[in-house]
Amino acid sequence: MSLEREPAGKLTGQDAGRRVLLRGWVGRRRDLGELIFLTLRDRSGVVQVLFDKVRSGADAVLAAAEARTEDVVEIEGEVAPRGAAQVNREIPTGEIEVVASRLEFLARSETPPFLPEDRTNATEELRLQYRYIDLRRPTMLRNFELRDEIAFRIRKTLHERSFLEVETPMLTKSTPEGARDYLVPSRVHPGSFYALPQSPQLFKQILMVSGFERYFQIARCFRDEDLRADRQPEFTQIDVEMSFVSENDVFAVVEAVLIAAFGVAGIEGSSPFPRLTYADAMERYGTDRPDLRYEMPLVDLSDVARGTGFVPFEKALEGGGVVRGLRVPGGGPLSRKKLDEWTELARTHGASGLVWAKRSAGETSSPAKKALGEAALEGILSAAAVADGDLLLAVADRAAAASAALAALRAAAARETGALDASKHAFCWVTDFPLFGRDEKTGTWFPMNHPFTSPRDEDLPLLESDPGRVRARAYDVVLDGQELGSGSIRIHRADVQERVFRALGISETEGRERFGFLLDALRFGAPPHGGMALGLDRICMLAAGASSLRDVIAFPKTTSGTCLMTGSPSTVADSQLRELAIAPVRPPES
Ligand code: ASP
Repeated sequence: MSLEREPAGKLTGQDAGRRVLLRGWVGRRRDLGELIFLTLRDRSGVVQVLFDKVRSGADAVLAAAEARTEDVVEIEGEVAPRGAAQVNREIPTGEIEVVASRLEFLARSETPPFLPEDRTNATEELRLQYRYIDLRRPTMLRNFELRDEIAFRIRKTLHERSFLEVETPMLTKSTPEGARDYLVPSRVHPGSFYALPQSPQLFKQILMVSGFERYFQIARCFRDEDLRADRQPEFTQIDVEMSFVSENDVFAVVEAVLIAAFGVAGIEGSSPFPRLTYADAMERYGTDRPDLRYEMPLVDLSDVARGTGFVPFEKALEGGGVVRGLRVPGGGPLSRKKLDEWTELARTHGASGLVWAKRSAGETSSPAKKALGEAALEGILSAAAVADGDLLLAVADRAAAASAALAALRAAAARETGALDASKHAFCWVTDFPLFGRDEKTGTWFPMNHPFTSPRDEDLPLLESDPGRVRARAYDVVLDGQELGSGSIRIHRADVQERVFRALGISETEGRERFGFLLDALRFGAPPHGGMALGLDRICMLAAGASSLRDVIAFPKTTSGTCLMTGSPSTVADSQLRELAIAPVRPPES
């Protein structure tokens, strides 16, 4: 009877005595002359294979002597228990080995640039260049198994709730949502361009106008931005839209999706997630993505700081800024070196400096003690409820810089003092974002999310008179200080949409030119609707405990937007450009 191929990584002591046929890659090989060991790896795992003259026969030993790392082989043999001393507890198949009787090469491999093992010294560049080898590393495979399971559970959760999965175009109209578009020239319409979608935003809204009521898509999105370490030019969103809903309905669905997704990795959440407004989040934690695994709120010290005569405080307050602080419980013993590091950290977040003070054994110490005076320092410490053994960090600056610096310090302090228990997880919603932000240089308003977000009804009258105070029906969902996604209840009335465009300085002609199809659709019976998009790559990264998005994207780009494996982006033949009516551009000589 001919043997069927079996998964190598699933063999156990129970299989002892069975003949098996395995196919896979050669891992490490140990050649002891008479005796050759090699590990065989396939998707299921690894198993040790043994060749010896007596049991395997001379031909098999000869073939095994030729085997090299990453050759693809077929092996036939018998499963044998290992002696007690030889059992390898580090691999699931460690109780047995396969005594081979035959080895056949299915493909040979050149010496790989690095071994596909979890512990590797290979640089990330090399890993990305030889991505096919990198993806052979067991952790990478596990990440993609996890990603597959997460995507499956998300689909199931949404399908069970009557969501329709609908694909929207990749070649679409340029309707910028805050980032730069990737453009695709049209050959048939010389001089015209498609854009790759920054998100399916307008299509999903139009599907609501079409009466689909519940839409989702695991959608690829493209944004031509200067990349930061944790960004990719193309990424995947779980895109959701619903009709006849309010925020609560969207939250309930998204919470179910996130609980199902993170459940795959044993990260639990319970519905409903806590909610806080943007204003509260900024005041209490200095950020719109607070990490609620620990408390450590910021305190406003402006009132007690006023009139102290301490120059940094007075200067900030006179300039319309604030003095804000953070009590670090148990932070008293932190070293001077750590505090110098944190002063730098505050600076990298835009603050001009950091003032600190400690209380220990009834004594107060602070580099600012002299300049502030004992009484003023005491006043500040008690306003911040600083107890013996605690540390106070204070920043005097513009509100935005003080918040950003203290938010970063809060995270660093939680890590340093053990207030952060990394085994815990905390989801939350941040709601009521401002509708608009203001470009400080030009003074113009821009949408905080995108221009299709609905203002709160009661703030509508402020659209023209005081745009900065209009609150949006917009929300973000956050896990452990990381934004997982954002969304909003949308504008479903053409007149309100036109007013928002106007507030954004988009003229009627421009509004029609860019978004005419949306405005038209809103005139033909648009139901109230809202939704959200979640970043699938980030969700998978957090679930996998990976430190980079590149570890959960099969073929990612580098931070400069290149694919080291395929060499994209690349130049193209002049003839291709001519077909597109584009004049050849020579890249600058480097
Ligand atoms: N389209 C939005 C984004 O990509 C999300 C949403 O509002 O649903 O950020």
